[in-house]
Amino acid sequence: MQYRTVPKNGDELSILGFGCMRLPMKDGRIDEIRAISQIRHAIDHGVNYVDTAWPYRGGGSEPLLGRALQDGYRDKVKVATKLPSWMIKSREDMDRYLAAQLAKLGTDHIDYYLIHTLDGPLWDTMERLGVSDFLDRATADGRIVNAGFSFHGLGPDFKRIVDAYPWVFCQIQYNFLDQEYQAGAEGLKYAASRDLAVIVMEPLRGGNLGLATPPPAVGELWDGAHVRRTPVEWALRWVWNHPEVTLLLSGMNEESHVEENLAIADTAHAGDLTGEELALVDRVGRKYHELMKVGCTGCGYCMPCPAGVSIPDCFDFYNKMSMFGNAEVVKLTYALRMSDELINSKPGYASLCTACGACLDKCPQHISIPDFLAEVVAVMEPGLKERVAMGKQLFKIEPK
Ligand code: SF4
Ligand code: SF4
Repeated sequence: MQYRTVPKNGDELSILGFGCMRLPMKDGRIDEIRAISQIRHAIDHGVNYVDTAWPYRGGGSEPLLGRALQDGYRDKVKVATKLPSWMIKSREDMDRYLAAQLAKLGTDHIDYYLIHTLDGPLWDTMERLGVSDFLDRATADGRIVNAGFSFHGLGPDFKRIVDAYPWVFCQIQYNFLDQEYQAGAEGLKYAASRDLAVIVMEPLRGGNLGLATPPPAVGELWDGAHVRRTPVEWALRWVWNHPEVTLLLSGMNEESHVEENLAIADTAHAGDLTGEELALVDRVGRKYHELMKVGCTGCGYCMPCPAGVSIPDCFDFYNKMSMFGNAEVVKLTYALRMSDELINSKPGYASLCTACGACLDKCPQHISIPDFLAEVVAVMEPGLKERVAMGKQLFKIEPK
């Protein structure tokens, strides 16, 4: 296992973190024996950062991790979990959720505590509710050790949030397809320049970049490489090639995933990939982009839309489906993220578009935004209400 240093506190963290979002399931519940065995096996082989969150696995991930860290394992790792920002309605809620999480995890402190899934508007809400005061106090009294945030918004908001609090770390989505999406490469460099440790999530874009059988046009490119690597290895090595990345989280739920990731993490260093290898990964990225329906880069210049449409998010979901399939999962995620039930304060569905045209001149890609949004409506929105209801069941878990 390789380790990298957190600039602000000197912690040496394993470059592979264990993500507890996709723990193995059996009969509709976490397969506890397998999950604990996988987590402990990873720790025994050098992983020292484990990441969970309030809603993962229907609320079962945090208590499962607490049990996995019994028998002496708690002292071997840094535990990361996240304040469910979309559930927070008051300053008191923040302390209430943190207390519940400490109890669920069976610990008296969280080593790395994140404000979960921020974007610009959600950060503004959290600030208004007093999140800075909450983090100051929880850090001072030792309930949390290091404060950070995870991000799913637009680039300019990322920089604003980085500069708004003395964070120790942040967590961003980053992989060779998302170099210009959300925080992107620019955000990665910006956070590192401010001495934040950067945790990378979605290095395989929900597993899609690591499919053993990628789209044929992509498979041909990988097959032409001078060195044989699985798509997983290419994608992970590409992330670790960045010196600004502290560690990446892999949501492992098969023993073979754990073994493969551990083996790659033994030998991956920043700056390892040759120019030829980086060019190949770029070609693969471009091929994936050719498979996209809409040439949206997620820059956000078209925002805000007066009707409230979350334009880049709508196109991102539509593209995900055209590149990788998984239609039902993508539609459920679209229904949830675009609704005002969970994360956003207002809905952002494509169907809110009134075709006013105000966004058209702002798009550097000259995308016919209302026309493509109409396609998104036709493909993603039939059955929307039912999916939102299903999502509420899955994610809205009140603290006991
Ligand atoms: S055309 Fe549609 S997406 Fe564009 S600004 Fe008007 S309502 Fe918003
Ligand atoms: S639609 Fe155009 S302006 Fe809007 S995020 Fe996409 S590329 Fe940027």
